Amino acid sequence: MKPKEFVKKTVRGALDLLYPPSLYCMACGNLIDISRPYALCDACRERFGWANDRTCAKCGKPLRGDDPRTLCVDCADGGRLFERGYSCVEYADCRAVIHGFKYGGRAYYGEYIALAMYDRLLYETFARAETAAGFPAIDLLLPVPMYKKKEKKRGYNQADIMGGLLAELLALPYDNKLLERVRDTGVMSSLSAEERGANVKNAFAPARGREGAARGLRVMLVDDIFTTGSTINACAETLLSDGAASVSFIVFAAGADVGGLMTA
Ligand SMILES: [Zn+2]
Ligand SMILES: [Zn+2]
Repeated sequence: MKPKEFVKKTVRGALDLLYPPSLYCMACGNLIDISRPYALCDACRERFGWANDRTCAKCGKPLRGDDPRTLCVDCADGGRLFERGYSCVEYADCRAVIHGFKYGGRAYYGEYIALAMYDRLLYETFARAETAAGFPAIDLLLPVPMYKKKEKKRGYNQADIMGGLLAELLALPYDNKLLERVRDTGVMSSLSAEERGANVKNAFAPARGREGAARGLRVMLVDDIFTTGSTINACAETLLSDGAASVSFIVFAAGADVGGLMTA
C-alpha cells in the first residue's frame, strides 16, 4: 500500500468513529457504494468541474477555456491581500452539497469535504510541484468565523467543521477561537463585488485577549465557498494587521471565473 493510501485509510477509520459513512450521494441523493470517494456517485463525480488543471494562480479558482490567462478576472483586478488560494470544485456543480451542508443540517458532509480539501492540497504539493511555486508551509489553520448569534441558530459553523477535520488530516495546529466575526454581514449572494467589499469591511477582529496570537505565523483560512473573495480578503486584512506573516486559504467550492472563453 502506498503511504498516501495508508494515511487515508487510517484517517478514514478515525473519522468513521465521528461520522458514519454516507449511503447517499451528497449531490444527487442516489444510493451509493460507500467505498466511493467523497460520498459522490460516479456520475456526479465525473460531471463536477474539479479544479485540477487550469486554476487561477492567485485564488485557485478553476479557469475555463484555452486562453493563456493565468489569473481569473477578479485577481487580475488586483487588491488581493491573501497570498494564495485553493479550491476543489466549481460551485455551480456542487450547489446541492453546499446547501445540504449549510442549511440542511447535514454537518457530516464536512468529513467528505475535508477529505476533498486534503486531496487538493496533496495534489498541489506533489502533482504541481514543477509548475507552481510549491505549496506554502502553514503554521496554523483557522475557520472563517460566523457571527455568534447566527452560529447558535444554525447549531454549527460549517467552516469550523471542515477546518477541524482538515487540521486533523494535515496534523496542523487549529484555532477556532482566534478570529471573530464582530457583526452580522447578512447574505451576500445578491450583492455586487464592490458592495460585498464594503459589507465585510471591519467585520472581523481578533477575539478579546487573543490580539497578536497569529503574529509571525503563516495562516491558512478554511471556508466552504469563495466567490468574489471579499470575505477572505477582509479576514486577511485583519490577520495581517494583527501581525500574521501571510494568509492563504482553502475552500471547497469556487464561483466560476467570469472571463475567458466560456464553455457553458
Ligand atoms: Zn450523484
Ligand atoms: Zn483568481
